[in-house]
Amino acid sequence: MKPELEQLVHRAQQLYEDLDLAAVRTWKQAAPGRKAIGYMPIYVPRELMHAAGILPVGILGGGDRLEIIRGDAYFQSYICHIPRSTVELALSGRLDVLDGMLFPSIGDVIRNLSGMWTMLFPGRYVRYVDVPQNFDPKVGGAYWRRELETLQGDLTRLAGRAIKDDDLRHSIAIYNQNRQAIRELYQARSWQPWVYPTSELYLFLRAGNVLPPEEHTELLRQYLKLAPLEEDRKEKDHSRVVLVGMFCEQPPLGLLLTLERAGCWIVDDDLLLGMRWLTGEVEVEGDPLANLVTAFLEQSTATASRYQPEGDRGRALVESVQHNVAEGVIFCAPSFCDPALLDQPMLIAALDRESIQHTQFKYSEDTGQFAVIREQAGTFSDSIRLWSEA
Ligand code: SF4
Repeated sequence: MKPELEQLVHRAQQLYEDLDLAAVRTWKQAAPGRKAIGYMPIYVPRELMHAAGILPVGILGGGDRLEIIRGDAYFQSYICHIPRSTVELALSGRLDVLDGMLFPSIGDVIRNLSGMWTMLFPGRYVRYVDVPQNFDPKVGGAYWRRELETLQGDLTRLAGRAIKDDDLRHSIAIYNQNRQAIRELYQARSWQPWVYPTSELYLFLRAGNVLPPEEHTELLRQYLKLAPLEEDRKEKDHSRVVLVGMFCEQPPLGLLLTLERAGCWIVDDDLLLGMRWLTGEVEVEGDPLANLVTAFLEQSTATASRYQPEGDRGRALVESVQHNVAEGVIFCAPSFCDPALLDQPMLIAALDRESIQHTQFKYSEDTGQFAVIREQAGTFSDSIRLWSEA
């Protein structure tokens, strides 16, 4: 790897491994009075925080780098892992740098975690962000507008400064640029997954959890520029697959590497979906809150935690397979993740109707053994290649 790209990847890896949020501490120390607010997966309107001068910080649990000592005591055994490791992060003081937490309404677990947070950390700002599941502007739109106004009021008080419309327009434009860079990266990977392997692309996406969006966009642009200069990144006889189910609790990096080593080029996924929740540009001119509402109603991505009418489930997945010229789908969901696992039968039915091959397995963010997954993914990759050649 050339030194410039090596340094870039090293920086992204360091940010990924930094459970103590050193980057956030450094950002706050750079100017007096700066504030940072954590948010859980998937979607929160980061533009509002940015417009208030607050750094939005994506919190995704402890991955496979955190020993759970106290976090387990708060949960029964049959739920996913991310709430335990998030509580562990907080109880161990790693999240003390945050001035508040937002918990979006992805499912029961995150909702209950917001209640626990209120009890565990009285006096800290906590808000459960209940996003609409009705996409009629007069119903879900009116509701979401009220929620955004309430959040705007909270953030104004926390930041100690008003969020002016022009501030918010500026922040919308900044996040439009960030989403555009991510879309370009995803498109580039879809064309040449050997140039932008997902195990590397993922590190660059993750950096957006702790960096200001302007800096993150610049990092992505540098990666887009440098990765194609690596002459030893050659096309291999891998199969092209879409990964589904990883929108909340994240897989360990080793799992993504394992899939690639097993012969799978990942050409689309739902990793870190919050950064890509809005699938197009948010209008900058006009009423910025109204623009955020319209974007949510009209441009929300299709995923398990978003309501979709009967019959529509699976359409977006089939389109992704077709658009990315994928040969199969790997359902890869966290153990005990109700939203992902309850969605699977409907998605599988949609794939079966189109004769698209699929396989499935489960993981936990701290899964450390990949031998079985490697065998399964390798067999799947071989079989769909043979199938498509037949
Ligand atoms: S991993 Fe699944 S069940 Fe667990 S908090 Fe996330 S969405 Fe909910």
